[in-house]
Amino acid sequence: MALGTGAKARFQAIKEIQSRNPRKIDPPRDEDGKRLPVSEYFGVNTFGLRQMKDRLPRDVYTKIRQTMEQGQKLDGEIANTVAHAIKEWALTKGATHFCHWFQPQTGNTAEKHDAFLTFDDEGQAIEKFSGSQLIQSEPDASSFPSGGMRTTFEARGYTAWDPSSPVFLMESTNGKTLCIPSVFISYHGDALDEKTALLRSMDAISKKACELLAMTGLEGVNRVVPTLGAEQEYFLIDRSLAALRPDLMMTGRTLVGGQPPKGQQLEDHYFGAIPTRVLAYMSEVELELFKLGVPVKTRHNEVAPNQFESAPIFEEANVSTDHNQLTMEVLRKVALKHNFAVLLHEKPFAGVNGSGKHNNWSLSVSASGSELNGMNLLDPGKTPHQNLRFLLVLMSVLKGIYKHSGLVRAAIASSGNDHRLGANEAPPAIVSAFLGDMLTKILNEIEAGAVAEKGAEQAVIKLGVSQLPEVMKDNTDRNRTSPFAFTGNKFEFRAVGSSASTAFPVTILNTAIADGMSEIIASLKEKLKAGKKTEEAIMEVVKAAVIETKKIRFEGNGYSEEWVAEAERRGLPNLRKTPEALHQLIEKKSIELFTKYGVFSEAEVNSRYHVRVERYIKNLMIEVDMLKSMIDTQVLPAAYAYSGDLAQTVVSVKAAGVSAPQVDVLNKLMHLIAALQTKRAQLETVYSKAESAHTEEEKAKLLAVEVSASMAEIRQISDELESLIGDDYWPLPKYREMLFSS
Ligand code: ADP
Ligand code: MG
Repeated sequence: MALGTGAKARFQAIKEIQSRNPRKIDPPRDEDGKRLPVSEYFGVNTFGLRQMKDRLPRDVYTKIRQTMEQGQKLDGEIANTVAHAIKEWALTKGATHFCHWFQPQTGNTAEKHDAFLTFDDEGQAIEKFSGSQLIQSEPDASSFPSGGMRTTFEARGYTAWDPSSPVFLMESTNGKTLCIPSVFISYHGDALDEKTALLRSMDAISKKACELLAMTGLEGVNRVVPTLGAEQEYFLIDRSLAALRPDLMMTGRTLVGGQPPKGQQLEDHYFGAIPTRVLAYMSEVELELFKLGVPVKTRHNEVAPNQFESAPIFEEANVSTDHNQLTMEVLRKVALKHNFAVLLHEKPFAGVNGSGKHNNWSLSVSASGSELNGMNLLDPGKTPHQNLRFLLVLMSVLKGIYKHSGLVRAAIASSGNDHRLGANEAPPAIVSAFLGDMLTKILNEIEAGAVAEKGAEQAVIKLGVSQLPEVMKDNTDRNRTSPFAFTGNKFEFRAVGSSASTAFPVTILNTAIADGMSEIIASLKEKLKAGKKTEEAIMEVVKAAVIETKKIRFEGNGYSEEWVAEAERRGLPNLRKTPEALHQLIEKKSIELFTKYGVFSEAEVNSRYHVRVERYIKNLMIEVDMLKSMIDTQVLPAAYAYSGDLAQTVVSVKAAGVSAPQVDVLNKLMHLIAALQTKRAQLETVYSKAESAHTEEEKAKLLAVEVSASMAEIRQISDELESLIGDDYWPLPKYREMLFSS
């Protein structure tokens, strides 16, 4: 039997991997050649507060610092001074270009580079960078998704520097570019990007949190910031193998591919020794991120084979969002240097774990110079009074999540995440919150009212909330099946997909929780007005909220069938697929929420909805086209070649006058080929139906249900064929090869 060229390429790739060595990097060193500690070069490629202090006049520095810390607007008058300092710094570092770096509604970042180069009056070449160039730029906005908010003939939109996130230098092989983190807005003032609404939602929750704090006796706090630490999961596979998988290259996931004999069932990968080539990769990723001021802290093997995780130290949510985008970018870029392909898709491989981006979220007081600075509002305190405050914040969160659980689901909806949530082998897409034994017990006791008569302070002492910090540190109190879990002093929004920008999920969390807080504040006010003492009022409000939000709390196995039934009994939404989840965005209740807190205008909400539905449709259509092509040009041809050769073998065996048991396999093959052709034709039919749907909504629904089901049937037959066809005929790298070589 002749080796097919497809299979030849596959074997060649496997051979190449055997001779790969870990890539050596050259970390920063001192004059004696000794490796510098990270603290010596952390953030060297950023122009943050420290650099500003060194390079700016005192008054300018003070103003810009206020701007950054208080989330205020930048004073135009100081822009030129700041721009000059930034330019001088960037030029010394070897930068040639600058760009406004922003986050359109593609989930990725965008940048258009301009050279510093210009000419003076005498035609002499000089480097120039003005305050206005720092503050604002006008990319041709017509090619970015706007969800109908802006038509091509009104293409104008502008980007504006977000001074709360430091500028940075992006290094590439042959040069450096100064990147200015920016928001992207239309000339009518509509947000065209992901960051604007995030910043607005941060303001909204800050206002509510300050108000709540003041009511509990903490006066004078002017700003509270949501904090975010985004754990990033990803797969690494060898680049040579990835190149032979058109599905991975085009869609980010494998559309066909049979299960390997060994997957993750031995549970031997999680926290295992990191393979040397991977560790070399991680080290270079970290080096680049450290230079960019991204505080990556933790790295380890994840549950699935060839799956890994990188987690940062938390920061303010907007900075952390930028830093997660940079992390994904650096992961991709550095992968190429190590001959890896990094897969950020939520479910690149069927049958093994998918990848998430756990969004660790909390609220923190921002008051530089004050001892309250950095105080975590979800940290149970040491005194009964602090714990009453903690309970109020906790109940605000639960109220927000309970009232807006559909929206929270919509926040994480994407074609990739559908394979992680709600689909056949994935956990259900029901939003619930996990609190752990200790807190559950406390809330149950509050609900039962067993402690009410003793007075609020006594009650809290009796409840033992003050031991929470210690208890919570115990890692055993974890529930990995909960989409939204309290982990001691923060919530972990685990359901966010690995490829998603954190901007949108955090925007929705902030807004929903600001709303929860707003209700808590209103109830408190009422009680106080009625003459209750503060602590008594708090206890009553907490109790009412405990009862109200009970349905959203779930401590059991969130992946089980029982939970699906139980959630249905409780009346919690189970929005399985993206189209139905996204619809939550445009429900009246949601639009009222967004407009009430000034996070999105109605037009902006509609735009988010349309952009997301459209992206869903496009992603699925790309998948269908890719699948059709792979079946037609790779899977079926391999089946034809193998069955043809087998038929000839049967002919010659029979001619030799002996019986030919190969006929059995041949029959099986013929049967599968015929079935695949039938299913392939059926896909064509349902796909055309979807393509000719009258509305986008209808189209999305057809793709989510009928087309996806048809794709799954095709996959099943293709995978059966893979297990039957001679290895020498199979052109696509197999799961065992992709997942177990590094
Ligand atoms: P674990 O690894 O057990 O999940 P860690 O304490 O390591 O818990 O935290 C995981 C992530 O949560 C890290 O990115 C960390 O920075 C982040 N995190 C910790 N505290 C906060 C907080 N107050 N707000 C937001 N994120 C936080
Ligand atoms: Mg964690």
